[in-house]
Amino acid sequence: MNRKKIAVISGKGGVGKTSLVASLASIAHKDKDVSLIILDCDVDAPNLALILPPNSKEDVLTQDTYTTKKARFLEEKCVQCKQCYDEHYCEFNALNWDESNNIPIIDYLACEGCGACRVLCPEDAFEIKPVKSGEIITYEAEIGFPLIYGKTKLGSTTSGLLVSEVKERSTELKEFKGANLILIDGPPGIGCPVIATVSGLDYIIAITEPTPSGLHDLSRAIEMVNHFNIPFGIVINKADLKSASQKQLNKYIKNSSYEILGRINFDLSIPKAMSYAETVVDYAPESVASQAINKIYTKLMHILSEL
Ligand code: SF4
Ligand code: SF4
Repeated sequence: MNRKKIAVISGKGGVGKTSLVASLASIAHKDKDVSLIILDCDVDAPNLALILPPNSKEDVLTQDTYTTKKARFLEEKCVQCKQCYDEHYCEFNALNWDESNNIPIIDYLACEGCGACRVLCPEDAFEIKPVKSGEIITYEAEIGFPLIYGKTKLGSTTSGLLVSEVKERSTELKEFKGANLILIDGPPGIGCPVIATVSGLDYIIAITEPTPSGLHDLSRAIEMVNHFNIPFGIVINKADLKSASQKQLNKYIKNSSYEILGRINFDLSIPKAMSYAETVVDYAPESVASQAINKIYTKLMHILSEL
């Protein structure tokens, strides 16, 4: 198989995305035809590493990233004219006034680094500087493949850029050349980090569950994927859940003719495996969920081989 880059996304968080990625990675590990690199691009809440820990803690590489810019106040240049505050230079309400010292103060978390204050201050009393926005962590997972993930710092406004950086760094791994499957745990939602995740991919797995929000958010995620014209398949988690949304979900899929990659029925083995920080396919290989995920993997490999 030529190299394929795929991601598991969900319009909504908490529908089993990371659990599915970890299980697919574990199955791929046993597939002699696959050489895998795993990415966690859910940079605001990365937790794939909890299920796929490093082989050795000593070999974990952590690199800082500087994709966010923030304003810095240069007190020595300020003539205390108060224009920046009185004339509302900052659209993001990040500029406040320190009455006791008679100088502006910057709300670090609110600052978007837009540079308006730097341009407007007559005394050049602001500068815009890159600041640490997060980390990229790389290691060889216990299952034998490299895993790379990003983690945003509180107040960082550039999750999408960090995702792009994680993807870029993965291409610099020595294993990248021989890898024929890049498997990404994508962020939930349809915002900038997801768009950065799906750009340039060969295939998307959209996971959902038969609940009102699951269906609503799936349709938004698919709208976004269709916009980029990327082939995709749907996985329905808790597929046997008795809910009013079950019929609506089936109708939605039937009317749209979207490809169903698989259905995973509710199975207590999944939360039990999670509580032991294990993949369900390793914790309970004979369980209903594991069998369903193995079928999904087989179907996925077939689809990828034909792309
Ligand atoms: S506009 Fe510039 S010089 Fe005037 S108070 Fe603000 S920072 Fe100081
Ligand atoms: S850089 Fe932009 S967001 Fe930050 S304080 Fe200046 S005007 Fe406000």
